Amino acid sequence: MKVDVLIVGAGAAGLMCAIAAGQRGRRVLVVDHANKVGKKILMSGGGRCNFTNTGAGPANFLSANPHFAKSALARYTPWDFIALVEKHGIAYHEKELGQLFCDDSSKQIVRMLLDECAAAGVTVEASCGVQRVRKTPEGFSVRTARGEVHAESLVVASGGLSIPSMGASGFGYELARQFGHAVLPTRAGLVPLTLSGKHQEHYQDLAGVALPLAETRVGKQSFRAGLLFTHRGLSGPSILQISSYWQPGDDLRIDLLPDQDTGDWLIGQRQARPLAELKTVLGDVLPKRLAQRLCEQWFESRPMRQYREAELAQIGSQLNAWPITASGTEGYRTAEVTLGGVDTDGLSSSTMQSRLVPGLYFIGEVVDVTGWLGGYNFQWAWASGQAAGQVA
Ligand code: FAD
Repeated sequence: MKVDVLIVGAGAAGLMCAIAAGQRGRRVLVVDHANKVGKKILMSGGGRCNFTNTGAGPANFLSANPHFAKSALARYTPWDFIALVEKHGIAYHEKELGQLFCDDSSKQIVRMLLDECAAAGVTVEASCGVQRVRKTPEGFSVRTARGEVHAESLVVASGGLSIPSMGASGFGYELARQFGHAVLPTRAGLVPLTLSGKHQEHYQDLAGVALPLAETRVGKQSFRAGLLFTHRGLSGPSILQISSYWQPGDDLRIDLLPDQDTGDWLIGQRQARPLAELKTVLGDVLPKRLAQRLCEQWFESRPMRQYREAELAQIGSQLNAWPITASGTEGYRTAEVTLGGVDTDGLSSSTMQSRLVPGLYFIGEVVDVTGWLGGYNFQWAWASGQAAGQVA
């Protein structure tokens, strides 16, 4: 079989690239080894797909080259994707901070992409893995489960390593290496953190306890959002966000009461409620079980009037910068994304084309560009897919 463009991976990036290339009149084939296309889209956003973020910009992405994503993101913006969603009559809403979700189901996004593919004359094949890729003078010769495919352009849109049960594979990284591209070390991102030893023992029975707002911090990076205790450690959006910046050994701090100087507040409470116990006072602003546990672990709970000002200031600063030692992450099994990947040094930032092998492209999560939680990763998939689809 002969095509102009062969795309490996029928996820967000691959399907968007296929639409753009098909609309240019290119003969496009998309293959995916999973039995269904767009599996991650289907499971995303709790089944409602947080398909973009209206505030998405280069600052919301991690990459060894923070400038790389700029060009593609500027040329295909959240508003371009929103226009497509509206064209298909898909109802959506903003949850918070610019995060847009389908009102109904992520299935609508997959349906929309497949309808656009069909309209652009694109062929999409599920259950079709790729066994071998060879460079030929005309382009590429690719052995797939359905036979040999000859293509002028080859687009690698095979995603990262997270959630192997959904079809994730290291295919894109291996192919990149085969053609001389550097691959930066990969690790799980947007992932719950684990605790071990004493830390786990102290907090594991708090599993299910949630704080509506905490501020997590590693170095200069911080995030304000909810936090959740789990059996194995910590999760919730503020933890998932900071997990992409945290590495074993890094100092992680959590401000459990980020809207106030807790020392000053406790000193005020000593005057207002001298007979109340510390755990009762803290239980008014933190989940009661957590307040109780912190008092057991960190500071004896006594009536407020028995504390000196300096002691309350000290307790306050501990609550504003809890030095919790994470032992690791839950890994690719539960991670939403993979950090690292195909080094952007080897790619054109405007077309995603390889600088080493003409006709070869890398798009989406396989590239060393990783977004924050909140619709940014899909926006990168759409934008990088478009960038390649306009030239491949
Ligand atoms: P993928 O969507 O992973 O697609 C890659 C495709 O390649 C897959 O279909 C896979 O089967 C196929 N493939 C892999 N290897 C091969 C091979 N050897 N041969 C053939 N095919 C192959 N991001 C957001 O922005 N908003 C969200 O709401 C959101 N929610 C998420 C929820 C979960 C649980 C997870 C895991 C991720 C979520 N993400 C979300 C992240 C987002 O899903 C990914 O960043 C995005 O899907 C990446 O798109 P992609 O096309 O690069 O890769």
